[in-house]
Amino acid sequence: MAEDKKINHVEEKARKWLKERGVEVKDIANLVYFLQEKYHKNLKMEDCIANVEKVLSKREVQNAIITGIQLDILAEKGMLEEPLQSIIATDESLYGVDEILAFSIVNVYGSIGFTNYGYIDKQKPGILAYLNDKSTGKCNTFLDDIVGAIAAAASSRLAHAAANVE
Ligand code: MG
Repeated sequence: MAEDKKINHVEEKARKWLKERGVEVKDIANLVYFLQEKYHKNLKMEDCIANVEKVLSKREVQNAIITGIQLDILAEKGMLEEPLQSIIATDESLYGVDEILAFSIVNVYGSIGFTNYGYIDKQKPGILAYLNDKSTGKCNTFLDDIVGAIAAAASSRLAHAAANVE
């Protein structure tokens, strides 16, 4: 019982923080659509949303979300110690821990997720362009990778489900 409450609390926080940082479920679903439309004729937006919801319901995904967003928020407030403060605040390209954390999300649905993640990280469509816009004054060093990873994992899930139907 107590364990259930704790789990709900983590999911609530993860979803609340995504929203507060400017990311809606439909923004991530748009990325899934972008990744999958060429492989599934008649792909529906509601299927993309449903798969994002499934990914968001996983505890390991929620853990990655609250950890990454927490670090972004603290960096934005200048509350981390050096050298980590500067590394995260400036999104230093050699840091790489943001991507490692995102891999824990991509991993949930197997290896095809990595291809999707790499592709979307290069293209930066939709919400990813917004999250990478440094002129907003926001620190999204972790969040951009997390959002790309959720989209990649949801795409893998959708592809697996479609393969099972065929
Ligand atoms: Mg990053």
